[in-house]
Order: sequence, then structure tokens, then C-alpha cells
Amino acid sequence: MSAEPLFKRLALIGFGLIGGSIARAARVQGLAGEIVVTARSPATRARVKELGIVDRVVDTNEEAVKDADLVILCIPVGVCGEVAASIGPHLKAGAIVSDVGSVKGTVLREMAPQLPDSVHFIPAHPVAGTEHSGPDAGFAELFINRWCILTPPPGADPAAVEKLATFWRTLGANVEIMGAEHHDLVLAVTSHLPHLIAYTIVGTADELEDVTRSEVLKFSAGGFRDFTRIAASDPTMWRDVFLANKDAVLEMLGAFQEDLSKLTRAIRRGDGEALFDHFTRTRAIRRGIVSIGQDAASPDFGRPHANLPNKT
Ligand code: NAP
Repeated sequence: MSAEPLFKRLALIGFGLIGGSIARAARVQGLAGEIVVTARSPATRARVKELGIVDRVVDTNEEAVKDADLVILCIPVGVCGEVAASIGPHLKAGAIVSDVGSVKGTVLREMAPQLPDSVHFIPAHPVAGTEHSGPDAGFAELFINRWCILTPPPGADPAAVEKLATFWRTLGANVEIMGAEHHDLVLAVTSHLPHLIAYTIVGTADELEDVTRSEVLKFSAGGFRDFTRIAASDPTMWRDVFLANKDAVLEMLGAFQEDLSKLTRAIRRGDGEALFDHFTRTRAIRRGIVSIGQDAASPDFGRPHANLPNKT
């Protein structure tokens, strides 16, 4: 922990999985002299007070940002523009204003015009999460060894960008800088499309008439279980992601549908070689993810505490 905190006052607007994890990790690392939080509902604000992780919980966005050196919006993408408008006139000159939204193009377009020239606006996206949400969902280790992508607009102050990068690195993340549009294209294929597929397949299984719901639950270990975890993600957040990243998602969905048609044809024609070649290629991608430390090679049975009977 450094003697002088990186920021005198950190303001978090929204205290769900991401806001709550930032607060917990920033506290552990001593990154802010004071952490001030607000959230939309009195129930969440009361819960944050109870948790006792932050220094102050206030009722309004305007109060939260007062004299803050770093302001982070930890709220759904769809409300970033209106919240930026509410805080714009109350920001301290020289403050860094950021967000954590999973889409960056629309956030940049909707927030930037609402903020005064006297602040540094640097959007960010920590590529880390779980399917849980709300004030109890966060944990200090969420960002460790995950990527945080910063998408500073052209002309952003390099010193402010570096300061925000230092903040995220101290939370445990690796930092990458890229343009907002490129971010949206990359995340469309690595995150948004997989979520759409999970939402689709879980819905499809639920609607099948000749497979009972209890069978779907009972035999879910065969791949389906992983989809159900992803499909349990917050509906508000994901509605906003698909609305905000429409073009990139549609582009990737087009490519996906073409590939799905190729595999469908291979199955229909009994073309085992095509299936084998495809699965060999995808296995190499999985091994690549493990080799760069973004996942563990050990099998995930989804039952870490299972006690298997001893065979004697
Ligand atoms: P969450 O757990 O649902 O928390 C959202 C928070 O935003 C809540 O505290 C909510 O307050 C507050 N909020 C909503 N509307 C607001 C408004 N108009 N004004 C002030 N506060 C408002 O969501 P999350 O998972 O932390 O996601 C937050 C952001 O992080 C989203 O933009 C998402 O795209 C991004 N993100 C999420 C993940 C992930 O895996 N979950 C990963 C990376 C980035 P109430 O509780 O009072 O409603």
C-alpha cells in the first residue's frame, strides 16, 4: 500500500458486481483517500452502508461526484448518457471521468457531449465478470489477471490515461488501449455473441416439448450447464449491450450463421472429416487461452466439493 493514495476521492455511481468489486479492491490496495458511493435505489444504498466497505454513501449522483478526482460510472450502458448529463455541471476541474460499460462506441457518443472540457473522459471496460449482480456480488479479486481495455477519445491527455491505467493495474488487471469501435467488434465475438448463443440455447431447451424440464436440469452436465450459467446474466445489462452494439453483433452473427450452416451441412452429409478438422481447430484455440493464463486447464465438473464414493 502506498503512503499517498493515487486519488484523493473516488466516486462510484452504481454498486453492483463491478462497482462493488472496484470498491473492495480499491480499499484493499489503498488507492483512494476516500470512496464515495451512490446507487439508484434506497435499498442498494442502505445495503452498501451496511456492508461498511466505503467511506460515504450519498443519495444523489451530483453529491457523489463533488470534489472527486476519479468518477466511475458502474451502471448499465443504456443510462450512461443521462447520468453523465446529471453529473456534468458538478464535476471538479481536472477530474478523470470513466465508466465500465461493456460497449464503448455508444458510451463515448452519449457521455462525451454531456461532460465539460475541464475533465478527462476516458472510457474503460474491465473484461471480467460473473453472472451475479447487485451489491453483494462483488469481490476484491475479480480483476486479477483479467484485461481492462481503455478507449480514450482522440486527443485525450496521456498523463490522465496513464493514471487510470495505473489504477486498473493496481486492481490487478492488465491494461490494453484501443479505439472504441475496434473494442466493440472484438467484444462482439468474444463476449456478446457467446451470451446471445447461451440465451438462445437455454430458451430452446426450455421450449422443447419432447424433453421434459426435469430432464434438461438433470442431464445438464453435458455442456448445457455452462450455457445456463452465462444465460443467468443480468437481463438489463445484456439488453443494453445488444441495443448499444447492434452493428458489430449483427456482423458477427452473420459470420456465425454462415459457419453454423457449414457444420449443419457436414452433419447432414455425414462429412466426418469436415467436423473433425473444425473441432481440431477449435481445440487449439482453447489450448491457446489456457497457455496465456486466461483459464485453467483443470476440468470444471461444477461440483468442487463432490465426494465420490470410494470403490473398494
Ligand atoms: P449490476 O450488478 O446490476 O449493478 C448495476 C448498478 O447500477 C446498481 O447499483 C444500480 O443501482 C445502478 N444503477 C442502475 N441504473 C442507475 C441510474 N440510472 N443511476 C444510478 N445508478 C444506477 O451491474 P454490473 O454487472 O455491475 O454492471 C455494471 C456495468 O458494468 C454495465 O455497464 C456492464 O455492461 C458492465 N460490465 C459488466 C460485467 C459483468 O460481467 N457483469 C463485466 C464487465 C463490465 P440499483 O441497485 O439501485 O438498481
